[in-house]
Amino acid sequence: MSEKIHCLIIGSGPAGYTAAIYAARAGLKPVMVAGLQPGGQLTITTEVENYPGYPAGIQGPEMMEHFRKQAERFGTAIRWSYVSSVDFSKAPFKVVVEEKETLLADTVIVATGASAKWLGLPSEQRLNGFGVSACAVCDGYFFKGQDVAIVGGGDTAAEEATYLAKLCNKVYMLVRKDELRASKSMQNRVKNTPNIETLYNTETREIIGEKAVEGVRVYSNTSKTEKVLKVTGFFVAIGHSPNTAIFKDWLDLDELGYIKTTPGSTRTRVPGVFACGDAQDRIYRQAVTAAGSGCMAALDAERYLASLE
Ligand code: NDP
Repeated sequence: MSEKIHCLIIGSGPAGYTAAIYAARAGLKPVMVAGLQPGGQLTITTEVENYPGYPAGIQGPEMMEHFRKQAERFGTAIRWSYVSSVDFSKAPFKVVVEEKETLLADTVIVATGASAKWLGLPSEQRLNGFGVSACAVCDGYFFKGQDVAIVGGGDTAAEEATYLAKLCNKVYMLVRKDELRASKSMQNRVKNTPNIETLYNTETREIIGEKAVEGVRVYSNTSKTEKVLKVTGFFVAIGHSPNTAIFKDWLDLDELGYIKTTPGSTRTRVPGVFACGDAQDRIYRQAVTAAGSGCMAALDAERYLASLE
């Protein structure tokens, strides 16, 4: 027999938990399916210093514990499980958990987030959180006055390189092709920043360091030689992938896989299904903006349910 749920939230990052807090306080008795990485991307970062309300900063995992406790305090039921498929053809919506249990939900809030793409080097994985980061805005401050490298040639890499250049002594931008993919204006910003050195046709071979990043070994496709850049921080900015594959048959996704929502709202193509956080935001991708859109999703869901009465 399928379980009937009023408001189902998929995902447990800042967007999902904020949606849960609002939905629970509005009496919607939300059930959350936390996903494979409970707490989301913030559980793999170290210190968060830019989330308002924490003047001394806070560790990402601890902050997500606070989110969880607040959501549970108002009665959110959290399932430590993952959603394997959905059927949004008609309400109540079918949500299948771990390929076996089917939940029926009057309204669904999708908050499945996105995952940073990584190069896939063993040294990158080993030093993740010890000088290797996929978020310059989160972690750049820890490298104040130091030399760092960033890999990628898109708008994110260009934006993050200029962000890092304000804090760091020197920024090496490692670009695998002979050109940047970033927009012309972003390219100009990079070119006009004196402490960014762009290395084209350059591949990252290895991140060096035992307990923390000490350098990066790069290979030039033009000179066919390797060299070591002495850096203490290594940033990966080669794109993000939204975790939206299970929704592709039901919701409109853009060409990168982000869920399309009606501007100024969290409404998707399917009335009663709302999307928030990084699963639908390819631009800002901050914890605080995700939390804000989670709040919007809960308010949109509440209004939708009220309109059915
Ligand atoms: P993109 O996919 O646009 O760029 C990814 C970059 O990483 C490319 O330069 C790509 O190289 C490089 N790359 C990918 N894989 C590897 C790899 N294995 N090794 C080395 N380099 C690699 O991602 P972004 O995150 O930069 O941008 C995503 C979207 O968000 C874009 O549409 C962008 O315009 C938008 N955006 C807009 C902003 C703004 O308007 N202010 C700010 C940030 C993002 P290659 O070119 O060789 O494929």
